[in-house]
Parts: sequence; structure tokens; C-alpha cells
Amino acid sequence: MYDLVAELPDDELPAYVYDLPGLRGHVRTIRAALPDRVELLYAAKANSDPLVLRTLAGHVHGFEVASGGELDHVRATVPGAPVAFGGPGKTPQELSRALDAGAERLHVESEHELRLLAALLGDRTVDVLLRVNLPVDVGRVALAMGGGPFGMDPAQLDRCLEVMEPVPGIRLRGLHFHLASGLQAQPHLLLVDKVLAWAGSWARDRGVDLREVNVGGGMGVDYTHPPRVFDWPALGAGLRRILARHPHLTLRIEPGRSVTAYCGWYVTQVLDLKSSRGHAFAVLRGGTHHLRTPAAKQHDQPFEVIPDETWPRPWKRPEVRDEPVTLVGQLCTPKDVLASRIMIERLRVGDRVAFAMAGAYAWNISHHTFLMHPHPTFHHFDDDAGEPVAGDTYVRQMS
Ligand SMILES: *Cc1c(COP(=O)(O)O)cnc(C)c1O
Repeated sequence: MYDLVAELPDDELPAYVYDLPGLRGHVRTIRAALPDRVELLYAAKANSDPLVLRTLAGHVHGFEVASGGELDHVRATVPGAPVAFGGPGKTPQELSRALDAGAERLHVESEHELRLLAALLGDRTVDVLLRVNLPVDVGRVALAMGGGPFGMDPAQLDRCLEVMEPVPGIRLRGLHFHLASGLQAQPHLLLVDKVLAWAGSWARDRGVDLREVNVGGGMGVDYTHPPRVFDWPALGAGLRRILARHPHLTLRIEPGRSVTAYCGWYVTQVLDLKSSRGHAFAVLRGGTHHLRTPAAKQHDQPFEVIPDETWPRPWKRPEVRDEPVTLVGQLCTPKDVLASRIMIERLRVGDRVAFAMAGAYAWNISHHTFLMHPHPTFHHFDDDAGEPVAGDTYVRQMS
């Protein structure tokens, strides 16, 4: 990876570089940690880069999509892979497309959406999960999804059962939950335990044959300590214990960020260095219109400095040494900050900076057209050996 990044010609920068062997190793590690009765879907909205999706196919049970656009893209990119269609505000056209495309699951968000589905169904069949907005305490998390516009209050489930009763083509397989984002393994297990206990008793009360529960994604990613990856073995062991109490249930999870965050790098270079009222700023080619993650999550994006020894100018090369530097982009806004006041040994104009953990909610959530800079180039590193790489080693490969 390091060589690849160092060898990229200047005119290819900024660049997104994807480490596909690292991704392959990582998803294998995740799969190996999960018990048999846990199916792994990848939430395509985290990063739907075609080669990323193709690398994951075969290692995941399927893909979760949240729009008609993602549905078409995943169908075209990984033909035949099972697709679960979720997300709020599905249009009648999207529901029809999902039925035509034979989506393996539909995650129904409301009674109205269920009625739309019934009206569009014709003589087809569809397997659905009802998405529940269960009022549970998820503690302090990066992003609480419960209590918002996602899914339905438990009281509305009974209305849905009535709507489905005369429509045999709609087959209720179970319930869907995605209640929090950014949880580590132990709090995540507590949440799953509560959710399954609730789902089990709801199904018993109503005489519903509960086959499947999808507990969503949201496995935590720690941007302040890249090597500290989510503890998949602990999650797997905990799920095995929990599932022993639910002998007939298949559990599904649909993480996005924790699967692909580590495989992507945003590589750029220092255009200018300045000191403003006592603080050092490095202005980088590109910025948060390419990598919005640090602005969206209000964090410092982890990075490595890759020294570049070429200096073609006749004047002294601007440089900072052993001081805190704020790394900004080319946008004319004070919000264009990628990392703030990070102690750096040495940084010079022309040095490269490779931002790590840029494989999820990075390029695809960024406002690319703002200021009309050229788009980054995209590179996929694949040694094709397919050797597993431990979850943390490819973060360190850069240094
Ligand atoms: C976004 C989303 C996910 C993935 O969340 P991550 O935090 O990326 O793991 C899974 N399920 C649903 C319903 C989502 O909206």
C-alpha cells in the first residue's frame, strides 16, 4: 500500500486508494467470528464502489440497499446476490422495482408503506420484515436512530398484521431493528438481547411465527484509535449465547461502516503552509468536498505523512517541525478541516498526506461539485493472493 501511494504520479492526486486484500481479510475475520445462525448483510450506502461490492460478494450473505438507485446498482454490480430493501420514504416506483427485481427482503417502515406494497403486489410474493422503533435506552452512542422517523412504534404493528391478513403474497418473516450507531460489542450485545426478548414475547402474544430478526448495523468504528477495531469475536461469542435462548431464529446484521471504513485511503499533498495568528495550517489539494467524513462526524481524520523529497523550486521549501498543524482543504470555508492541531514532526510543501479510514461514508457522502475542483482519481490495490489480513495490520502498513 505504502509503495502504491508513494508511486502515484502527482497529477493523479488527490486519489482514493482501496486496499481490496485488506477488505477481503477483514470481512473473512468478521464472518469467521459469527455463529452459523447469524447472516451478514453489507449496508451498501456506506460505500457502493463496484470493486468494493464485488470483493465483499461471496463473503457476505447479501446486501442491504436503501433506495431504488442502490437496488439497481447492486443488482447490476453483483448479479444474483440477495438484496434486502430498507429505508424510509420508499416511493411507489421503488417498491414496484423491488418487486420486479425479486428483492429477497423488504423492510417495511410504516402501515402506509405496507398498504402501498399490498396494492402493488398483484400475484407476486414478497418476504417482509416490519421495522420497529423500539423505545429502548441505547446509552451514549454516536447516533441514536430510535425515536426518529425510522420504522414504526410497536403499537402500529398490530395494524400491520391486520393489513397483511387478507394478502397471502406478503409473507411476514420477522422484525427489523436498527436502533443505534457507534456501539462497541458489549453494549451492542445488551441491545440485541433486549430486542430479541421483546420480539420473542411480541410474537408469542400475537401467534406470529417469528423466523428472522434483523438487528441492523452500527458496529462502532474508533477514528481516534484506528487499530482498535470492533471486537467481532466478542460479538460472535455473545450472539451465540443469546441465540441459544432463541432456538428457531435466524439473526441478521447489516453493518456498513465497520466493514469498509478501514479499506479506503484519501491521498493528497500539501499545497501551502502558513502560520496564522500563531497556528500552523497546511492547505491540502482537495478537502472535505472529497472526504466529508471528518466534517460530518466532527472528528480528526487519522493520517500518515509520506515525505516527498523532490523540490523543484529555487526558494527555500516551506516546512513546519514539531508543532501542532491543522490540515485543511481548498474550500473557501472555515469548515473545510480534515484534522485539527495535530502534533507533526515535519511537514513540507509537496509532502503527501494519506488519510486513513476513508473507506466508508467518505467520497459518497461528500459535496463533490462545491467549488468545481477536479474529482479525485480512484485506484484499487489487489494482489489477488486473497491472503487474510488481520483487521489492524493494514492500518499500520502505511507507516
Ligand atoms: C445506515 C444503516 C445501516 C448501516 O449502518 P452502519 O453504521 O454503517 O453500520 C444498517 N441498517 C440501516 C437500516 C441503516 O440505515
